[in-house]
Amino acid sequence: MARINVNTLRKEFGEGSDAVVAVEDVDFQIEDGEFLVLVGPSGCGKTTTLRCIAGLEDVTSGTLKFGDTDVTDLRARERDVAMVFQNYALYPHMDVRSNIGFGLKLSTKLTSAEIDRRVEETAAMLGISDLLGDKPKELSGGQQQRVALGRAIVREPEVFLMDEPLSNLDAKLRAQMRTELQELQHELGVTTVYVTHDQTEAMAMGDRIAVMNDGRLQQVGRPEEVYRSPTNEFVANFIGSPSINLFTAEVNGDTLVGPGGFSYTLENPSYVEGYDRIRAGIRPEDMRLVSEGGNNVDVTVVEPMGNENFLYLTMGDIDMTARVDSSMRPQAGETVQFAFDEDALYLFDAESGDAIKTK
Ligand code: ADP
Ligand code: MG
Repeated sequence: MARINVNTLRKEFGEGSDAVVAVEDVDFQIEDGEFLVLVGPSGCGKTTTLRCIAGLEDVTSGTLKFGDTDVTDLRARERDVAMVFQNYALYPHMDVRSNIGFGLKLSTKLTSAEIDRRVEETAAMLGISDLLGDKPKELSGGQQQRVALGRAIVREPEVFLMDEPLSNLDAKLRAQMRTELQELQHELGVTTVYVTHDQTEAMAMGDRIAVMNDGRLQQVGRPEEVYRSPTNEFVANFIGSPSINLFTAEVNGDTLVGPGGFSYTLENPSYVEGYDRIRAGIRPEDMRLVSEGGNNVDVTVVEPMGNENFLYLTMGDIDMTARVDSSMRPQAGETVQFAFDEDALYLFDAESGDAIKTK
């Protein structure tokens, strides 16, 4: 088992004017036994980062350490990592037993009795003991994914690297496998880096999450930390569903003046001192409907969710969302007023996007 150190990692593809910087200045540490989720939009450099950690890509610069060992120049098979991909290609002509045990046969000096024992233990852990004699084509998508996981687990590696391993499964199975995977990882205590573009999955699974955008790491922290105190507007907008409501406001003394006649006088104006313009954010669950003293919004759609209603709103040219109690049920087409606690207001620098105030 190992702590992982990623130190100013940079990866470029191609040369000269054709060069693509896929990963830039990425720095983070994963504690021994920790489950870290690397999350960000498609193309932001998650897979490249993971492949560098695995040793499947040479780094352009920077260093990688597992424990005290510098692994930057070690080849993939010298690194003691097991990787699970989205397209878990199982060998079609081999049964489940051979698929799980294949890597052990190649890479270890274990006897076939020892390999059988480890394969059977792994299969039991994954609840697929009765499938050991089956061929991949006889298995469901979820069972195939378990076999792919089994192939990684059976090797008892120092590090698990998983690249969107659940994205080929349907929503229900994906939710179930998230929980199972997380429990299994905690049981095994293997340091794990898990890649996904799905922020809900990241929030649900990670001990900590690392948010990437455009090749750069934006923030690393516990899910609730990243949700409450995003370092910048990108993270605030990326994490949370429905997304945070964001708009530009002029700073007029201690008052924020925004689209559609929005006006809010800050109790604590020191946040916006020196700014002419800021970006303001309010999470959908922090929007309250009030009968007076709030700001006007037009209701476009009301979506009842059972215990709460999602309201789709417009404030001037800005679309907004509110999650309100099910007793709050305005009509589409109505104009209503909303309020919020200043505590729940997010403020960002309009130029850099850096957070000025979070929850
Ligand atoms: P993600 O996994 O977050 O979707 P990737 O790491 O796959 O992102 O890609 C990051 C960037 O690097 C993208 O712009 C992608 O086009 C580029 N890239 C990835 N792999 C290669 C490659 N082998 N050659 C050239 N460009 C690549
Ligand atoms: Mg990817």
